[in-house]
Amino acid sequence: MSELTNKSLTELVSLIKTKELKSEDITKDFIDNCNKGEKLNAFVTNAFDHALDKAKNFDKNPNLNCLLPGIPLAVKDLFCTEGVRTTAGSKMLENFIPNYESTVTNNLWSEGAFLLGKLNCDEFAMGSSNETSYFGNVINPLKDNVVPGGSSGGSAAAVCANLTPATIGTDTGGSIRQPASFTGTVGLKPTYGLCSRWGIVAFASSLDQAGPMTKNVSDCALMLEAMVGFDPKDSTSINKKKENYSKNLSKDIKGLKIGIPKEYRVDGMPSQIEELWDKGKKILKEEGAEIIDISLPHTEYALPTYYIVAPAEASSNLARYDGVKYGFRSSKGANLIEMYENTRSEGFGDEVKRRILIGTYVLSSGYYDAYYLKAQKVRQLIKRDFDQSFKNVDAILTPSTPSSAFQIGEKKDDPISMYLNDVFTVPVNLAGVPAISIPAGLDKNKLPLGLQLIGKPLAEQTLLNIAYSMEDKINFKLDLNKWWEN
Ligand code: GLN
Repeated sequence: MSELTNKSLTELVSLIKTKELKSEDITKDFIDNCNKGEKLNAFVTNAFDHALDKAKNFDKNPNLNCLLPGIPLAVKDLFCTEGVRTTAGSKMLENFIPNYESTVTNNLWSEGAFLLGKLNCDEFAMGSSNETSYFGNVINPLKDNVVPGGSSGGSAAAVCANLTPATIGTDTGGSIRQPASFTGTVGLKPTYGLCSRWGIVAFASSLDQAGPMTKNVSDCALMLEAMVGFDPKDSTSINKKKENYSKNLSKDIKGLKIGIPKEYRVDGMPSQIEELWDKGKKILKEEGAEIIDISLPHTEYALPTYYIVAPAEASSNLARYDGVKYGFRSSKGANLIEMYENTRSEGFGDEVKRRILIGTYVLSSGYYDAYYLKAQKVRQLIKRDFDQSFKNVDAILTPSTPSSAFQIGEKKDDPISMYLNDVFTVPVNLAGVPAISIPAGLDKNKLPLGLQLIGKPLAEQTLLNIAYSMEDKINFKLDLNKWWEN
């Protein structure tokens, strides 16, 4: 029966709808796989008993008229789940049990899915390797000494190793697309405002977006459809009619114009990435799309801009963790101020402290104009580059990352080299546009490499369609030897 967990989300949904499968069978198989997959450290908290109850209840009275009937789903531990511990990968929230549900997870449950567990991530989603988590690093299912990427590393590993049929992550600077690329899975960051941020532990509010992480493009369309929706509780939520991404999925991309930005050819990029990019262009041409060279001249400023804007917002968002309102409180300290200080020094890890220090520095009087205000202006220029390009092209093709998954520990003590990993993903968040990463090939060490498609605001359907047609031609297959089960 464990073959069930190899199936795509779309297949599972269809087998439930035709009554060939019961939710309980699916749920039991995934729980079994999760137990066998403990070495990967993908889960922070499991909700297996809850999932089994939900599955049995579903089977007694199945509602098949929804997008995700009877489907167990594990989610990134950044989404608040009512009555289930939500840690954001931090000691600060080690014992935090929300009494509310995030809008996005609520939307998934309204479509018939239920919670299987909470997936490991970098602390407060700050990282690119899942090594900053208080709950330990996650291991890439494709190789035992390699990172799964981050910050949604547990999510990527869980989809890759068949521990959940699909999942959701969050992406502030690449945290869905980079781990998807490192694990041979599909990840989509929607247009800013398409998915509600309500109930997601905040990192950098003007950049944070939730999105699907799946085995293939059809699953991605289905999950996106289930997640999105206007939410009056998020002031930046977009009020628009829901689209039928999965029903409208089409491989016909004839006549679409695809831009190739010359600035994404960075120094020292391995030739394999260049070859992968060429392969992507070739496939698009074969599918009838037109390839056009474009320029995004402010790309080189994206990373420095991101590392001002994101920490600035994070330092403000994380001010609430003071030992009084939420979570951990230090028992040390003779007075209130000392209690605050000890709580924050004991409760946060090094990377989070680094971001808070940078953030408060760039916002402090005397430096605000030189750093924060300047970064806001450059952000506008980066956005304008995309606006200009999208007058001439329908989408943009780039590599997802400048390298394949790196070794555990390789970049841990070198923040700059870790930050450089986000060079192709960060501009997208600054501009607020959507982007998808799809697996496109393997490097010489047999580790996956991803290609990224960037779209116009709210053009998720176009992105999914291009990805769908490319997926067919790329025909990428994950080779899981399941070393973790031994
Ligand atoms: N790696 C980036 C960072 O550490 C992006 C993280 C994210 O998208 N959440 O900030």
